[in-house]
Amino acid sequence: MLAQEIVQSVQAGQTSPGEVVRAYLERIERLEPRLRAFIRLNPKALEEAQQVEERLARGEALPLAGVPVAVKDNICTRGLPTTCGSRMLEHFVPPYDATVVERLRQAGAIVVGKANMDEFAMGSSTEYSAFGPTRNPWDLERVPGGTSGGSAAAVGADLVPLALGTDTGGSVRQPAALCGVYGFKPTYGRISRYGVVATASSLDQVGTLARSVADLARLTDAVSGHDPLDSTSLEVAPHFQMALQTPAQGLVVGLVREALAAGNSPGVLEAIERFRQVMEGCGLRFVEVSVPTLDYALAAYYIVNTAEISSNLARYDGTLYGLRVPAEDSITAMMQSRERGFGPEAKRRILMGTFALSSGYYQAYYGKALQARTKLKADLDAAFCQADLLLTPTSPFPAFRFGEKTADPVSMYLADIDTVAVNLAGLPAISIPAGFEGSLPVGVQLMAPPLGDERLFSVAHAFEEATGRAFARVAPLG
Ligand code: GLN
Repeated sequence: MLAQEIVQSVQAGQTSPGEVVRAYLERIERLEPRLRAFIRLNPKALEEAQQVEERLARGEALPLAGVPVAVKDNICTRGLPTTCGSRMLEHFVPPYDATVVERLRQAGAIVVGKANMDEFAMGSSTEYSAFGPTRNPWDLERVPGGTSGGSAAAVGADLVPLALGTDTGGSVRQPAALCGVYGFKPTYGRISRYGVVATASSLDQVGTLARSVADLARLTDAVSGHDPLDSTSLEVAPHFQMALQTPAQGLVVGLVREALAAGNSPGVLEAIERFRQVMEGCGLRFVEVSVPTLDYALAAYYIVNTAEISSNLARYDGTLYGLRVPAEDSITAMMQSRERGFGPEAKRRILMGTFALSSGYYQAYYGKALQARTKLKADLDAAFCQADLLLTPTSPFPAFRFGEKTADPVSMYLADIDTVAVNLAGLPAISIPAGFEGSLPVGVQLMAPPLGDERLFSVAHAFEEATGRAFARVAPLG
């Protein structure tokens, strides 16, 4: 079901949060062995549904009354382990809820489980989860994308109508595209990161996933807005549901030449073309734009990302929390805790980041990457003088097979070619389901200027309506 339908029927008294959650838990029990979208289910979900029933009976207005939600496992949930897909935090139980989780609860949503992810949000397939990969609901032999692969697969298979993920370089948008759902990454600062485990702090944002634009807007309205507990949080009120009423007509969309040049699979180019034709029919205008530095975005991203990771992950030293391997002296204990706690991709990035920041190389790598980041922002600003929105693929290809990219890390990094620029520039972007290649879903990505988040929803909604909701379907798993 869609979240909107659940809320309507709960509010009309036709069903109760307890019934909704029970039905979803049954569906999860049936399909989860095939998908493995969750690291852990919430044993208190039914109890919490009961509490929502009591709040409804007291007359509280709850915009997500009784809606089951999956929360990525790097977002803190009080009393429920938050592992980040890592052995390092396998037994970490947060003593508090992240602000976004608290807001979900305030809105009457039920956190039914913690979604699988690549370790510490590094990867593009969930294959780097220490607890095994999630499968794509459209083809169980293929990856769901990553790092929020558990969140995207859960929404795609309707194990939940809504999910939260995080997006440091595409981790909400890319899995959303590969699983045929909507995925939104806001302007840096629009959703609180308090209680979200840091990967790369200048890039990280929480993002939302759903199977309709109205559902996505409902969820995004519930979790965004200023939070005094996050120093990077902006004081901007959310108007996502309102944006569905704003006409998209007259907007100018820039087709980004560099992203459409070469290397995209046929189904992806077809989806871009379909999007253009449908939206021209809705009164939007398309122009070609160039963002020359886009060609350097991936290289700059993998320096900034690894540099920040090497610094953020230094806290897992076996002393305060996380895995602790006892040894005679503290240095050995630290080394062994990190050796056993981190998987190969985390280690690779810590090494790369430490190298990029080391004396003698700092200017050549980190300094250069920051220059590229500044130039990229300037190029994007210039493109936004010619167009209200920019259009690119979300991913150059649909879901790939397990093992296809794990042997060569760079081939995995290349899966992020279309998504990382948005994080480097702090922009909002959405992945819109817009076609299929064979049986595999394909998404297109729209970017907006900073704080243009709501505009993305107006356009996505217009496309959804004009195509009769043809592309964000529940995966046919039975
Ligand atoms: N795939 C990208 C990376 O590995 C993005 C990850 C993310 O957004 N968390 O860094």
